Amino acid sequence: MERPIYLDHNATTPVDPRVIEAMLPAFTEHFGNPASHTHAYGWAAARLVERAREQIAAALGAHPDEVVFTSGATESNNLAIKGVAWSLAGRGRHLVTVATEHKAVLDPCRRLAGAGFEVTVLPVDRHGRVGPEQLAAALRPDTVLVSVMLANNETGTLQPLAAIAEACRAAGVLLHTDATQAVGKIPVDVGALGVDLLSLSGHKIYGPRGVGALIVRRRKPRLRLVPLFDGGGHEAGARSGTLNTPGIVGLARALELAAADLVEEGRRLAALRDRLHAGIVAGLDGVHENGHPTERLPNTLNLSFAGVDGNALLVGLTELAVSSGSACTSADPKPSHVLAALGVPPQLAAASLRFSLGRGNTGAEIDAAAAAVCRVVTGLRRGSPLHRPGDGTDR
Ligand code: PMP
Repeated sequence: MERPIYLDHNATTPVDPRVIEAMLPAFTEHFGNPASHTHAYGWAAARLVERAREQIAAALGAHPDEVVFTSGATESNNLAIKGVAWSLAGRGRHLVTVATEHKAVLDPCRRLAGAGFEVTVLPVDRHGRVGPEQLAAALRPDTVLVSVMLANNETGTLQPLAAIAEACRAAGVLLHTDATQAVGKIPVDVGALGVDLLSLSGHKIYGPRGVGALIVRRRKPRLRLVPLFDGGGHEAGARSGTLNTPGIVGLARALELAAADLVEEGRRLAALRDRLHAGIVAGLDGVHENGHPTERLPNTLNLSFAGVDGNALLVGLTELAVSSGSACTSADPKPSHVLAALGVPPQLAAASLRFSLGRGNTGAEIDAAAAAVCRVVTGLRRGSPLHRPGDGTDR
């Protein structure tokens, strides 16, 4: 059987061969421990790490000292949220986040809520956005951190982060953003965004899995995160553990490659996404788009199909590798918490697909995908008690 068409790039991406090529010397000749200061093996590895740090900082408008390497965005988010919360616990114990955040933000917040912190989880509008005024109103004298993602992994909706940053700055509250899905897809500059902390991950940008970074802006007084791990004090004490030199080199190369054709690739993907959407609605009624119509990532399309069973839809669509919500929670059969927060009814949320396009996708694949969706949905609706022709189009 041919492999399904891969339309799940928000879950993970294939590693670019140019990234692998850049990583190889860090496995072989430059295998030294970057923390080994007493010999040339260590110095060579440290040079690779420091060059990668500079490349990553340059790509994101940050300073090299602001880059903390981690094992991925889950760790970056945990370090940002728990690290700030424990560091500033003497000043206040209130955090603010948003209902559509990734579990890697919501769960650390939940854990803090069980440890004496208070967490406000803001609702979103039907497009998945939180208003800056709404956010400002949630800030209190004891608020120490706000965490709002830049781009949503399920819908692609972008949050109005610059305005949110302004509200946080005015109140003297730190702002963290999970930019895992935005980096490599849209321009991301930490200075322009005005955030204090930003999470990113290698494997969403054609880099390796298991490596990421947290950008921690330098500020006065210096923000000292309470680390998640105790150990050798690497990364200025923020993240102990021998550095993953190949992964770090790969992350930097992946970011550099993404930056090189960000705008053109974004345009290409947006055109393919629109073509997929047009192909599907040309063949089907009762299709609802989830997410913001314009303020969104170029590669992501989230659609709900009225009148079909969600499980049957996924089982029937063997030709496509797509996701029904977040891949990170696909072991969990509950309808997506993101779609629920947008007000999508549970049955419709269960019958929704996230198409996330990427570098390898062609027009021919997109046309084949649209045809497959139309064929499978039409087949499932035929005779289904869930479907009446023309229903469900007015949500
Ligand atoms: N945040 C978002 C928005 C994501 O999409 C993901 C990946 N599903 C993560 C965090 C977790 O990233 P990682 O796999 O690098 O831990």
